[in-house]
Formats: sequence, structure tokens, C-alpha cells
Amino acid sequence: MKKIAILGSTGSIGTQTLEVARTNGDIEVLALSANNNIRLLEEQIREFHPRLAAVWNEEKAKQLRENVRDTDVKIVSGMEGLLEVAAIPESEILVTAIVGMIGILPTIEAIKAGKDIALANKETLVTAGHIIMPLAKQYNVSILPVDSEHSAIFQSLQGGQRKALHKILLTASGGPFRGKKRAELAHIQVEDALRHPNWEMGRKITIDSSTMVNKGLEVIEAKWLFGVDIEQIEVVVQPQSIIHSMVEYEDGAIIAQLGTPDMKLPIQYALYYPERRYLPGERLDFSTLSQITFEKPDLDTFYGLRLAMRAGKEGGTLPTVFNAANERAVALFLDRKIGYLQITEMIQACMEHHHNIVNPTVEQILETERETYDYIRCEME
Ligand code: NDP
Repeated sequence: MKKIAILGSTGSIGTQTLEVARTNGDIEVLALSANNNIRLLEEQIREFHPRLAAVWNEEKAKQLRENVRDTDVKIVSGMEGLLEVAAIPESEILVTAIVGMIGILPTIEAIKAGKDIALANKETLVTAGHIIMPLAKQYNVSILPVDSEHSAIFQSLQGGQRKALHKILLTASGGPFRGKKRAELAHIQVEDALRHPNWEMGRKITIDSSTMVNKGLEVIEAKWLFGVDIEQIEVVVQPQSIIHSMVEYEDGAIIAQLGTPDMKLPIQYALYYPERRYLPGERLDFSTLSQITFEKPDLDTFYGLRLAMRAGKEGGTLPTVFNAANERAVALFLDRKIGYLQITEMIQACMEHHHNIVNPTVEQILETERETYDYIRCEME
């Protein structure tokens, strides 16, 4: 039995992780966690019988404790609860399917407890990659990418010499507004931005895909995961989302990973690495596949990607500002308080305002997040 714990089990990645566990039948789920959704969490508790479940919201935790009194599960709450899930004894892998920088501290806790990390939560490496990667090395734990692009890069690197890696070709679908110019995006509504052409994902990441900020976060994540410079990462728009990413070696050979868009593949690969298992679902059929096309990203329209590259190159607390500003701006857009184009404008304004701190501690990163939120709040008043 493989023993796992999941941060964010009620979300898009979390539920798909449980689907992988359900299909394979040899994964023991020791701990689950959610923010608010105790209805789904209760269903998951009754199906997977974890020892522990964490709910961020104290009131909801209390309510869930009542609702599952007939079971043996222990219900915990707040950051302490997440840390307990992260380090639960006997678990081998922590799946970080939580959204936001709240994932940093539990990931650190899990690494220190010797758990491998199946990493979906982008924000952890984007903002604290300089802390997480050396820590993982120190504790001899693996960071296994769950994001489909990073998994594709990871898979393409199997068998190749890491030192012969020349560059990473990170593919992007281009999102629902590919081909449009900035002026055409002024009146985009929430419903338009939530319509991703290829992938079914959570709301925040779907908006991030439409602005290409998601690709920017992935560029920074790839820098840390694979130990390359930002200049060694090239974003290639591949609208059909068939090539999930590629690597180019020193001799010019390019190795890619292809497949239908299904997050269960990278999730399963991370959970069982290096083993490959049968995965039910649609397969690529080259006889019906008419074309795979490529484009350069339009960095003028989608300049969030350009801002991310700058943040990734400068490092320090700037990627935190990029991430936190985007998080808040997307939430405001989803609440219909700001327009679509203001998302990137807000990120830029926050980055301009910030005095970068080199090599920040976790406290400084979290303080920078709070300062960025405050700055946006003041600007909105
Ligand atoms: P969702 O919004 O669908 O799910 C987020 C999960 O985190 C939910 O279970 C949510 O609980 C939980 N959560 C949020 N805040 C807290 C908190 N304070 N305490 C405890 N739990 C919390 O997100 P996704 O699954 O789409 O994304 C998760 C992460 O994975 C993100 O970092 C994203 O960038 C990354 N990712 C996602 C991909 C995808 O295909 N969706 C692909 C690659 C990466 P609740 O349900 O109660 O709100």
C-alpha cells in the first residue's frame, strides 16, 4: 500500500488524486484537508477512511467534527491542522493540491518529516523555491511535479543527462483569447474567461490561463524544479494541448511528452514514480489527429507573462508580489469589482511599487504577501 496525505482534497487536483487512488485500489489515504467544503470532505472521509482531516475554517471544523462523530477520524483546523496533515506519521507522499501561498509552511513541514512531495501548488516554488529546493536536497526527499507541463519536462528528462539539458520548451495552449489584441479584451466577462479550450481546472487557475499569468508562474516554477535560468525556458504556444512540454539537449535533440489533456496522468506518475501504470481514458489517435501547430506567445497582449519572466529573473520577493497581486486581482475580477485588463495592470503596479528583498526568509515572503494585499486594498479605496 502506498500511503499518502492530501492538502486541498476537495479541489480540482485533490478530487482527481482521489480518483487515481480509487481506480488503483492500493493507495491508503491517511489525511485529507479543505478550506470550507465540509460536505464533500465528509463524503471523502466516509469513502477513504483517513485518520485525520483538516478544515481551515474553525467553525466548519467544529461542524464537521459533529457530523462525523460516528467515525474514528480526528478533525483539526487552521494552520496547525494543515501542518499535522503534512507530517502525519507513516505517510510517504504529501500531495500539495491546495491553492495559494498557504501551501509553503505545510510543504516545509512535510519535507522536514521526510515525506516526498507531489507538488501541484505552484505558489510554493514560485515564492519560496530558493528555500524549498535546498531543503528537499538536505532531507533527501523528492519533489515530484504534478503540473502537466512540469511532469512532461520531468518525463522527458528520464534517461537523459541532466547536465546536457540545453533548454526547456514549455508549451501553452494560449487560452481562450489567443489571437486577440489587448483592446479586444477590455470587455471580457468572468464567464468568457472561465471557458478554457482544453483543460477542466479550478476557477483561479482557469483565469490565470486566460491571462497567461499561469504560464508565467510555470516558468518560475520550472526554473526552481529543474535548476535552469529563466533564459533557458522558452514558452511555445501549442493550442491543441497535445504536447505537454519538451526539453532540448545540447546536441539539438528534442524530447517531448504527448497525450490527451488529462491531469490524472501526471498525478498518477507522481504518485507511483518511476513506475508506469495503466490509466483508463481517452488515448491519442494519430490517424485522426489533423494537426499540431505552434506559435510565439504574444507578450504585448499577454504581458503578465513578460512580468513573470522579469520577476523570475530578478528573484527575491518580486515573484511573491507577482503572485500575490495576481491572486488578489483575480479574486476581484471574479467578484466583478475590476475589469479583465486590470488584472495585469494591478500586477504591474504592485511590482513597480515594491522594494525587492534578496534571498527572503519565509516570514519576509509572507510579509510581502500581506503588504501586496494592503497596497491593493488602499489603491481600491
Ligand atoms: P481548487 O480551487 O480547485 O482547489 C483548491 C483546494 O485547496 C480545495 O480543496 C480548497 O478547499 C483547498 N484550500 C484552499 N484554501 C485552503 C486553506 N486555507 N486551507 C485548507 N485548504 C484550502 O484548485 P486547483 O485544484 O485547481 O489547484 C490547486 C493547486 O494546483 C494550485 O496551486 C494550482 O495552481 C495548481 N495546479 C492546478 C491544476 C489543475 O488542473 N487544476 C494544474 C496544475 C497545477 P475548499 O474546496 O474547501 O475551498
